[in-house]
Amino acid sequence: MSRFDFDLFVIGAGSGGVRASRVSASYGARVAIAEERYLGGTCVNVGCIPKKLLVYASHYSDDFEDAAAYGWTVARPGFDWAALIANKDREIARLNGVYARLLDEAGVRRIEARARIADAHTVEAGGRSYSAERILVATGSWPRMQDVPGIEHAISSNEAFHLKELPRRALVLGGGYIAVEFAGIFAGLGAQTRLVHRGELFLRGFDDDLRRGLALELEKRGIGLGFGRRLARIDRHGSVLRSTLDDGSTVDSELVLSAIGRTPHVAGLGLEALGVALGPDGAIAVDEYSQSSVPSLYAIGDVTNRLNLTPVAIHEAMAFARTVFGRQPTPVDHRDVPRAVFSQPPLASVGWTQAEAEARFGAIDVYRTRFRALRNTLTGRDEQTIMKLVVDRASQRVVGAHMLGPDAGEIIQGIAIAVKLGATKAQFDATVGIHPTAAEEFVTMRTPLAPPPALG
Ligand SMILES: Cc1cc2nc3c(=O)[nH]c(=O)nc-3n(C[C@H](O)[C@H](O)[C@H](O)COP(=O)(O)OP(=O)(O)OC[C@H]3O[C@@H](n4cnc5c(N)ncnc54)[C@H](O)[C@@H]3O)c2cc1C
Repeated sequence: MSRFDFDLFVIGAGSGGVRASRVSASYGARVAIAEERYLGGTCVNVGCIPKKLLVYASHYSDDFEDAAAYGWTVARPGFDWAALIANKDREIARLNGVYARLLDEAGVRRIEARARIADAHTVEAGGRSYSAERILVATGSWPRMQDVPGIEHAISSNEAFHLKELPRRALVLGGGYIAVEFAGIFAGLGAQTRLVHRGELFLRGFDDDLRRGLALELEKRGIGLGFGRRLARIDRHGSVLRSTLDDGSTVDSELVLSAIGRTPHVAGLGLEALGVALGPDGAIAVDEYSQSSVPSLYAIGDVTNRLNLTPVAIHEAMAFARTVFGRQPTPVDHRDVPRAVFSQPPLASVGWTQAEAEARFGAIDVYRTRFRALRNTLTGRDEQTIMKLVVDRASQRVVGAHMLGPDAGEIIQGIAIAVKLGATKAQFDATVGIHPTAAEEFVTMRTPLAPPPALG
């Protein structure tokens, strides 16, 4: 008989926490999970899922516009934001129910309350104290807001999913994927949209050709881009928010969305008293098995600020459960994780960017193609697709694949398998394409870009 109430107490029922609880329970562990807000966490409630539904909605403006070139007559389409949000909410409520059922069926004890760690083996939640042999923190992250006058007039992505109406003009602050995606959503649905970012270009960490290519495409769509500028203050004048930037210029809008980044969600957890080592960003520092400096305490997902994506949190959860309860030590593997930005057009990547590969491998070959997708030939839509392969010259392995263009996420997911398996350029070349697709370009690019001339 264990001297603990539970073998595992999980704090946070998001992407990582739910998976870790279910899989640990399947190994026979007695598991409890505490959730203070919503089952499914950020991804299901205010992240990936509702975001992608809004992205789908915003695409229809292109489709209506393009339809005429394919012979369709479309009456002037109308758009109802309230209907979209109500339908989205219905789907999210359904998913919340699915998560509750999954946990119940796995025999995981659900506690609907905020949890706090009292000591290395005790968690307090809902006015009760529970002992556990191990505690897993999976509390995610939370939007960070600038510290400038009037910031209370701005919203974060959390509120963007529950707006009463679509703003006529939207200002989006930030240069990460969340900012870029929301700019596309607002613009696609008809709001006059501007994106302001303090860096020279958005989407740091993605390949530079794609970043520049996307900036051009967004500008063609009428999204105003302001790089190298910061927000200085926001003043409200009736329904208009006047944002003053650090160069003195002003932007008027009905909505300001701040998406400048997120911080690990550790406030009030009781970590300081426990003496858990934290990273400089406040994230829980963990080893490759997600174990913290306190042996009974583990952490996975955004709260560890390793690679903040849902499939990564799930991967960390699986590795944790297998290591701790499946008795198969499984380190987490963050190599070659594919990523997408659901912008318009979307962008996706796996492996090293050209700049990273140059620094890492020295001699590389880069294969790049830029073209207008077949679908756009009739419509005349001036949108460029870019595809790129980065090859380590010594081993001939494809170490990076990058795409800007329709369905980039769907295509790169498949390519990611080949990259993860270490496929060579010759193996890509030996693969027969599917014609006519854009994806076939990934197996038909034959001539590398000329290397830059040597200096001196
Ligand atoms: C707008 C947006 C769009 C995104 N889009 C994508 C995407 O397209 N693809 C992708 O892969 N990722 C996306 N992400 C990131 C993804 O949502 C996160 O990486 C993922 O949810 C992290 O999972 P997690 O388990 O670490 O935390 P979360 O899913 O955030 O779950 C943490 C849970 O812990 C709960 N909690 C916190 N503190 C306590 C406490 N003290 N007691 C009890 N409960 C607590 C919270 O309420 C929450 O439910 C997006 C994020 C945002 C914000």
